[in-house]
Amino acid sequence: MKYSTDETPWTAELEELRRAELYRVMPSVKQMPGRTIAVNGKAAINFSSNNYLGLAGHPDIAQAFVDCVTRYGAGSTASRLIAGNTESHRALESFIAAWKGTEAALVFGSGYQANVGILSALGGEGDLIVSDELNHASIIDGCRLSKARVMIYPHLNLSGLESILRSSGFRRRLVVTESIFSMDGDCAPLKEIDYLCRRWGALLMVDEAHATGVRGPQGQGLAAEHGVTPEIQMGTLGKAAGTSGAYVAGSRALVDLLTNKCRSLIYTTAAPPGIVGAALAALKIIASPEGDRRRARLKENTLKFYRAMNPGPGGLSGPSHIVPVRIGDSRKTVRVSEACLEQGIFAHGIRFPTVPEGTARLRFTLMSDHTKEDIIMAASVLENAMSMVEPTERTGKICL
Ligand code: PLP
Repeated sequence: MKYSTDETPWTAELEELRRAELYRVMPSVKQMPGRTIAVNGKAAINFSSNNYLGLAGHPDIAQAFVDCVTRYGAGSTASRLIAGNTESHRALESFIAAWKGTEAALVFGSGYQANVGILSALGGEGDLIVSDELNHASIIDGCRLSKARVMIYPHLNLSGLESILRSSGFRRRLVVTESIFSMDGDCAPLKEIDYLCRRWGALLMVDEAHATGVRGPQGQGLAAEHGVTPEIQMGTLGKAAGTSGAYVAGSRALVDLLTNKCRSLIYTTAAPPGIVGAALAALKIIASPEGDRRRARLKENTLKFYRAMNPGPGGLSGPSHIVPVRIGDSRKTVRVSEACLEQGIFAHGIRFPTVPEGTARLRFTLMSDHTKEDIIMAASVLENAMSMVEPTERTGKICL
């Protein structure tokens, strides 16, 4: 035996995580369709779901899943380039290209795979990738895997971005940003970023993970809402679409290049046909008047939530349906989250390294299915739970 049972090669590292209050365990979850959930046996209203439009439990989407499994089987049996490229994959890609108004689209098994694969395929030797400092881990990992030089600009800071774009001597320059930031809920100024990209001859990649389905005409995303057409438009299917997977939409040449060079597409089994069929059904709903109604309800709920958190005249409004409540300290964040759950509200605590050190927070996400009563209850439970934390110890106001 190489080590005793109570001393493994990982014991010290695990201990360190526990000491720093950064140790994670997966909660045991009983998912209900819609706005409720049971977490470790405790029933609660779910304010931690990315199922923003409530589509994960939609009967038409479930039926499309079943139909595709019946027709093509449970698995896709091979990678897209060998024998896994079913009619359902092609139908989904055609729909996405038409919906996004691009020449072509390419579907991936997940958003993580998409970002890692796209950035490592596009960022070659002699290239520059310029990335917002709060971009998602999948973007960071894609940058790390690429052979390009990577430069980071301060979060949403246009002058910081421009001063990097002034640097010359690169074969190609690519700016990458989320549209709605996953942990902060704030929005990238896409018009201005697009202007800078044009001015300095850089390509733009926008990750619409949290805006797909939720913003823009027919739920096309924030870039469409801002009238901007980035060269590389990435979005996910596991959040507002309620299914799983991701896409990139853009030119035929972009899709052809990725089909040839994107390792996370080539060297993995294709997404299962059932999930691809379900995603197509979800996007059809997203693009329809039903999608508009769900988006309108989500917008109303977001406003109601901000009003409930800031009662009285002059109450704040926020940029999106993702509302971070910053506490700062990891231990206290976990305690506040547990206190909320105890009182029937599930708002997960987000800690380093998902967010920068010292900025731990509860991340509230609104759904179109939340009721007025859910929202009022969440605000009052939160206020109650926050009383455990001294105001001076919080790094931000309740909902900034
Ligand atoms: N991009 C952003 C901004 C995200 O928030 C996420 C998921 O949390 C991803 C990409 C990855 O998407 P997926 O969950 O489909 O892997």
